[in-house]
Amino acid sequence: MGGVCSTGIISQLNNLKRQVYPSNVESGDDGSVPKGKIFVALYDYEGRSLNELSFSAQETFDILDRSDDNWWKVQSRKTKEEGFIPIEYIADDYSLTSKPWYFGKYKRREAESALVLSQNSKGSFLIRDSESGAGLYSLSVRVEKTVKHFRIKKDEDNKFSVTENKFSSLDALVGYYKKNKISSTVKLYKPCARIEEPCTKDLAYCTIENWEVDRSIIELKKQIGEGNFGEVWDGTWNGRVRVAVKTLKPNSMQPEEFLEEAKIMKNLCHKNLIKLLAVCTQEEPMYIISEFMKKGSLDVYLKKRKGTPNQVKFHVQINIAAQVASGMAHIEMNKYIHRDLAARNVLVGENNIVKVADFGLSRLVDEDIYMSTGSMFPVKWTAPEGLTHREFSIKSDVWAYGILLYEILTHGGIPYPELFNEQVLSKLQTGYRLPIPPGCKDKRLYDIMLDTWKVNPMERPTFEILQEKLDLYFKIEGSEYLDPKKCN
Ligand code: AMP
Repeated sequence: MGGVCSTGIISQLNNLKRQVYPSNVESGDDGSVPKGKIFVALYDYEGRSLNELSFSAQETFDILDRSDDNWWKVQSRKTKEEGFIPIEYIADDYSLTSKPWYFGKYKRREAESALVLSQNSKGSFLIRDSESGAGLYSLSVRVEKTVKHFRIKKDEDNKFSVTENKFSSLDALVGYYKKNKISSTVKLYKPCARIEEPCTKDLAYCTIENWEVDRSIIELKKQIGEGNFGEVWDGTWNGRVRVAVKTLKPNSMQPEEFLEEAKIMKNLCHKNLIKLLAVCTQEEPMYIISEFMKKGSLDVYLKKRKGTPNQVKFHVQINIAAQVASGMAHIEMNKYIHRDLAARNVLVGENNIVKVADFGLSRLVDEDIYMSTGSMFPVKWTAPEGLTHREFSIKSDVWAYGILLYEILTHGGIPYPELFNEQVLSKLQTGYRLPIPPGCKDKRLYDIMLDTWKVNPMERPTFEILQEKLDLYFKIEGSEYLDPKKCN
């Protein structure tokens, strides 16, 4: 593979601040990585461009060049081949992160949804940082169709224990409980399968310096959507990376403004936000290249399954809602605004993973086109201050999140089906709100929705709080999920 990178450098795009090291790589006191360390791959990786190395999980490497913050030159101990690899895929061989069963900052909710997947059988397990105690860990184990969680205690001698037996390391604890039962029904068998790939900063090694890429190596294979901003295509970059390509309607936004916004979007890296990978801005139509999500938009995904044996179950609905809140909390933390949050702008991937898409884009569309085209302006998702004064903030995103919750719980139902767009504002001004979703007996969820629809934006919760509430949702019920029949 050669000549895959565009040479036209857009300097403003390349001054992105890079994180020094991800949490899976322990740095020395001066920020450097100590020499002579062996690193191990946590995932499989297929090299995407010239000079990159492909490898399998558990393969080990010597580090040859660490001068870039995100891509290191390594030599595989197995194949002796040399090349660059994204450092999010590797960990120091002696660190806790390198253990196949250690999932770091993984929430209880995430552990439950991963462990019940078919890739995992009885006894699959993971250890994660405890959500309640800094420096403490929890052990989550699949037991038949449910998941049990154990707190791992640590005494003053730094010994770990789940039962009365004490161990000097988590490795020793895991080894022991692979041979001996923790309780009458629980024994560790194999580490939970890793279902999410890490979020890499770049599309490929050759786009580090230049993420304005050459459009001739993008192949548009099949049109999969026609959105507000243009067409969406299923495509490939460099013949090997599957990507979604959004082609922007000519003259729908200014290239300079788009690039300014894209710079921010590129920096928002979170597992529940669609990753913007590259752009083509030098000719019309401009392209936005992002990660591809196999199962399409959430509204269609929910609707298609409604009333079938594959109808999305209640605990998955909650998990989806929690993931969206988590992605939006990242947007909130970065002082950014989505402006068009709705189920149609949430995309679904494998294993019920969802990611928020199209953040920030609506701001760029020519306002006259946006506001005048009835189909474009999302009246039923817009907070009153947006409808009356065009005021948009993270708090109007919170309002839209409440509508999105309604969409999730009604399996893609249309909000206010009895109202035309023009009627919505006056109805809201009388104090009217969407009713509790049909069949949803759980008032707690409806209370969350009502909180997001407070007239005063400042009285609406933050996404951080929403995320916590949804993460906590099942904890209140113990380790069992609520009866799915209750809310379907
Ligand atoms: P949008 O312009 O964002 O409304 O997208 C229109 C449609 O294209 C969506 O409803 C999805 O079905 C599809 N789509 C958009 N982005 C992606 C993506 N990153 N991966 C897969 N499908 C996508």
